[in-house]
Amino acid sequence: MDKFWLHIPLENMNERQWESLCDGCGKCCLEKIEDIDTGEVYTSAISCRLLDPDTCRCSSYEKRFKYMEDCIKITPKKVYEIKWLPKTCAYRLIKEKKDLPAWHPLITGRADSTITSGNSAKEFVIHPSAARGEIIEYIIDEENL
Ligand code: SF4
Ligand code: SF4
Repeated sequence: MDKFWLHIPLENMNERQWESLCDGCGKCCLEKIEDIDTGEVYTSAISCRLLDPDTCRCSSYEKRFKYMEDCIKITPKKVYEIKWLPKTCAYRLIKEKKDLPAWHPLITGRADSTITSGNSAKEFVIHPSAARGEIIEYIIDEENL
């Protein structure tokens, strides 16, 4: 297998390569809050309402920007700007010049290996319809992301 992510810069990847890097963890689809004094961003266990908690996939991926105005399209530029991508995110790993983990679908050849290996948001995600209380009560320790 050609580990293209080790030698092609993010900005030079074609669409197929780019999309294949997303491991489908769903962690970037969790609601966040920002401390306006420090700029620190905290991630909660509560997901965007369009995230399917079973598959950790967007239930309207093609039309997501129509339904969710604040959905952020991950681009090479965004990978360098965003500070809250989870430490397991393939785009962040590549930015940090690291290889993909052994459980990544590109390594295992199985689309569901992020979930079956316990590395997706499925481990803790709460759909907003099931959340009780304020988002601040659901903040996740960054180590678990
Ligand atoms: S955090 Fe990264 S790898 Fe996980 S779903 Fe989001 S973009 Fe894909
Ligand atoms: S609209 Fe889809 S891709 Fe965007 S945050 Fe929500 S679940 Fe994730």
